[in-house]
Amino acid sequence: MKTPIAGLHHVTAIASDPQRNLDFYTQVLGLRFVKRTINFDDPGTYHFYFGDDTGKPGTILTFFPWPHARKGQMGAGEVIATAFSIPVGSKEFWHDRLKANGIAVQEHTRFDSQVISFSDRDGMVIELVEQEEAHPGAAPRYSDVPGSKAIQGFYGVTLLERSLEDTETVLEIMGLRKVAEEGNAENERLIRFAPEGYALGRFVDIKLDAAARHGRMGAGTVHHIAFRNTDDAAQAEWRRTLARYLSVTPVQDRTYFHSIYFREPGGVLFEMATDNPGFLIDEPIESLGEELRIPEWYEPNRSAMEAQILPITLHKAAVAKEETATDETIGASR
Ligand code: ZN
Repeated sequence: MKTPIAGLHHVTAIASDPQRNLDFYTQVLGLRFVKRTINFDDPGTYHFYFGDDTGKPGTILTFFPWPHARKGQMGAGEVIATAFSIPVGSKEFWHDRLKANGIAVQEHTRFDSQVISFSDRDGMVIELVEQEEAHPGAAPRYSDVPGSKAIQGFYGVTLLERSLEDTETVLEIMGLRKVAEEGNAENERLIRFAPEGYALGRFVDIKLDAAARHGRMGAGTVHHIAFRNTDDAAQAEWRRTLARYLSVTPVQDRTYFHSIYFREPGGVLFEMATDNPGFLIDEPIESLGEELRIPEWYEPNRSAMEAQILPITLHKAAVAKEETATDETIGASR
């Protein structure tokens, strides 16, 4: 018996300016900056990870911020929206907060849920969906968002595809089933897939548009999405299964998880990533994200790498506020 896929592990996208990216996800969306590392496949550039307090699977949004990246274009074979789950009753809070930050917000209904939709600083489409099953918990440390309103993790993703069939076959092999469908016009059909049971990031929606043009990778577009594997043994089993139908990479050591990659027939790059070892492997929980972490095999080149990447300013004012009630200068002076 294969261990079922529960939902998303992480989503990885492309950004341009690193500071602007960091500011948006920590200061506007209130996520925690859980890891500051380099792109293992392009070590002169950053890889940022945002998530809940520990960056648990299902909460992790990661970016390759390439300072000179040209803007991408969304199209067929791409993820066109990344949705987070928010607690019931928090919609107004987010409306106001986004507006206060100069962000244009749209609202629509999808599969009977109200969806708040907006773009990040690079044009990536982010959605917030009030979800009954999302149990409000604590907000990540350093976040000024109240726990009762905080983003809980992923809700799901929307893929734009020109046809359904082959993609559906792959999702079914992965244990996701068609659970809902809406729209009937040629370019408005939306089909929802999900594995059994509640989990963060369990929904994969496919928007069908036979005439959609292919997208172009660049700032504001999603590079790939990763689904959860509970452990290495489960991943090995999934790899064997998938390899019967698709070309799957060998296991890659990503330090914080182990990964395999394959492209689904519609063109979206899929990954499966293990829950372990996680982000606490090389930093204590209190100071996640504060220092540039690089894999051991790159350590001899650290100074050359550091010279290549842009310096960034971290934000710790919120924790200073929490710990000392008012004094923001503590955060600033750290
Ligand atoms: Zn990944």
